[in-house]
Amino acid sequence: MSYKLFIPGPTAVSAKTLAAMSQPMIGHRSSDFVALYNSIQADLRVLFYTKDPVYVSTSSAWGVMEGSLRNLVKKKVLCCMNGAFSDKWLDVAQRCGLAASGLKAEWGQPVDPAAFRRELASGQYDAFTLIHNETSCGCQSDLPALMAVAREFPEVLSIVDTVSSFSGLAIRKDELGIDVMLTGSQKALAMPPGLALFSVSKRALERAATVTGRGYYFDFLEFQKNHEAGMTPSTPVIPLIYALKSKLEDIKAEGLEARYARHARLNKTVRDWAFGRGFRLFPREGHGSVTLNCFANTRNVDLAAVNKELKAKHGFVIDGGYGKLKGQTFRISNMGDETDETMSALLTALDSVLAGLGVK
Ligand SMILES: *Cc1c(COP(=O)(O)O)cnc(C)c1O
Repeated sequence: MSYKLFIPGPTAVSAKTLAAMSQPMIGHRSSDFVALYNSIQADLRVLFYTKDPVYVSTSSAWGVMEGSLRNLVKKKVLCCMNGAFSDKWLDVAQRCGLAASGLKAEWGQPVDPAAFRRELASGQYDAFTLIHNETSCGCQSDLPALMAVAREFPEVLSIVDTVSSFSGLAIRKDELGIDVMLTGSQKALAMPPGLALFSVSKRALERAATVTGRGYYFDFLEFQKNHEAGMTPSTPVIPLIYALKSKLEDIKAEGLEARYARHARLNKTVRDWAFGRGFRLFPREGHGSVTLNCFANTRNVDLAAVNKELKAKHGFVIDGGYGKLKGQTFRISNMGDETDETMSALLTALDSVLAGLGVK
């Protein structure tokens, strides 16, 4: 049975991207692979707004999220927490045996720059983790404001998760001074899951060189060494690199500004639709994500029933709330390859499902 996902990851994958994956395999130490790897670097740097290399990891984002901690934290890490993924990052740091503490905000509230400054000023930390776009509650923190604070503390390295915002809006790594910027394939890049992309500053590599216990699979120095040879440390998921190359062509053809504008426009289309039906945004005003919307279920709709009908009758799936927000919120993704037509088909279908359930 086939249906289309409008959940915030994995997102729907185009036929072109799927076809790109079914090319014959090449040896990962062959000159063909080196040519493939090197051919995507320039376009990746444009998307990351960086002069640094962009590494390709065969893992989901969490691999690099954990790896960043193991490569960079010597003293203590501050984990900015305002949703499921950022909350878990503190747990992961502790499971790695690192000294860590959390700067906690309610789910749906952005990370507060003033509280962030107070915490960093304590002098305890040599790194922090931050999620730009908390997918679990659709909350986008003010990254430029937070990075301005971070730049006041040059001894503290910044690890920024842009998993669900990357390529949906401009995130200027070098200009903002981000030390590790990471993303995954199955969100706004609209590729299947299994590939993580990350770019590391020179000073973060220098720090890593002084850290023991980096392990092997996510060792930043291994990534850098292999990068210089146009390769990855271990056998990468070559089909997804083919898919990435195809996707980078798509992004170039559309144009970055057009891509960002499309995400903003479709995001607003969904918001206007929901507001017109008496729902409100779950995250704080002015901090809604641009790649998805998380709505409070203010109409008390039976979200499980909505999704069941939506899938059975229309072949679409939305998200009925993440973790503790299940049933209280619902999320609709507009990231990736969506268009005015695909979003309006979803919203028309949702109207028909809601009417069938007696919600007007
Ligand atoms: C999806 C997501 C992750 C986790 O990605 P995995 O692919 O499951 O490792 C991390 N952070 C954010 C913000 C996400 O949206």
